[in-house]
Amino acid sequence: MRIVALAGGIGGARFLRGLLAAVGPQDEITVIGNTGDDIHLYGLKVCPDLDTVMYTLGGGIHEEQGWGRTDETWSIKAEMKEYGVGPEWFGLGDRDFATHLVRSQMLTAGYSLSQVTEALCVRWQPGVRLLPMSDDRVETHVRITDEQGTRAIHFQEYWVRLHAAVDAEAIIPVGADTAKPAPGVLEALAEADVILFPPSNPVVSIGTILAVPGIREAVAAAPAPVVGLSPIIGGAPVRGMADKVLAAVGVEATAEAVALNYGPALLDGWLVDTADDAAVAAVEAAGIACRAVPLLMTDVEATAAMARAALDLAEQVRK
Ligand code: GDP
Ligand code: CA
Repeated sequence: MRIVALAGGIGGARFLRGLLAAVGPQDEITVIGNTGDDIHLYGLKVCPDLDTVMYTLGGGIHEEQGWGRTDETWSIKAEMKEYGVGPEWFGLGDRDFATHLVRSQMLTAGYSLSQVTEALCVRWQPGVRLLPMSDDRVETHVRITDEQGTRAIHFQEYWVRLHAAVDAEAIIPVGADTAKPAPGVLEALAEADVILFPPSNPVVSIGTILAVPGIREAVAAAPAPVVGLSPIIGGAPVRGMADKVLAAVGVEATAEAVALNYGPALLDGWLVDTADDAAVAAVEAAGIACRAVPLLMTDVEATAAMARAALDLAEQVRK
């Protein structure tokens, strides 16, 4: 079976680990990763979501933190601080730096982000084919108003420095309108047997991937069933501040509202947590098959059960 999953960082990566545990060795998984979180720091290109997927599936992730490398040290950051060079709020450890150095060196030499990602994955062997959504530069910006007035700031500054404590007024995937899907992305969607939306952020992870012209259309047109899993349980994100960016796009932070926002043109099936059992009828009424199952990724086995439930639902809705 050819499975294609769109993925952000932590939520996407943890789900993919369960999916890998749920499928057989003959199944092929292609991951279309969000690059709207990418940021240039110290002249280096940092791709947080691609790296979180790569490190998580490759066994290099800092488990408790959910991002960055295991057994990390921070000498470079301390040295930068001595020079008064920031940003201090973004955590790049010494081991992680090596990834960004290799990536930036290859990009400078003329390789595309897809080629670089493939090269990095030779080391990490994530067990999936990891494709960036686009080789073109896309950067999500967030419009806020604070004592300095109204302005747009990089998503990382909003998320990591401000912890989404200020209201997001608009989410702008800068560059997305002219970006092209990376090589292999549209083909993977067209040839997929199943397309999955992991419980990733619907706005700044999945939403950004869908904002690349051609990708939303390819998901909608794909012959494969499309099944998503809710990142919202009991009216709140399980982890992080997804409610803040949902509010910016006028979507309530509920499992039902997120499904309806994707809509039946994209989604054939939707999984909500058992706590959101009451949402099933409304989602089904909108033309999306819906089931309530446990959706907490407490360990790989629980996550694999979620993946199996998504694949089962895909079979039930297959046309
Ligand atoms: P990010 O790029 O690191 O923010 O990661 P993603 O966009 O891939 O995923 C973030 C989303 O994962 C958040 O909105 C969380 O609510 C969701 N999430 C995290 N852990 C769980 C979990 O155990 N179960 C479910 N259903 N969602 C989760
Ligand atoms: Ca992210």
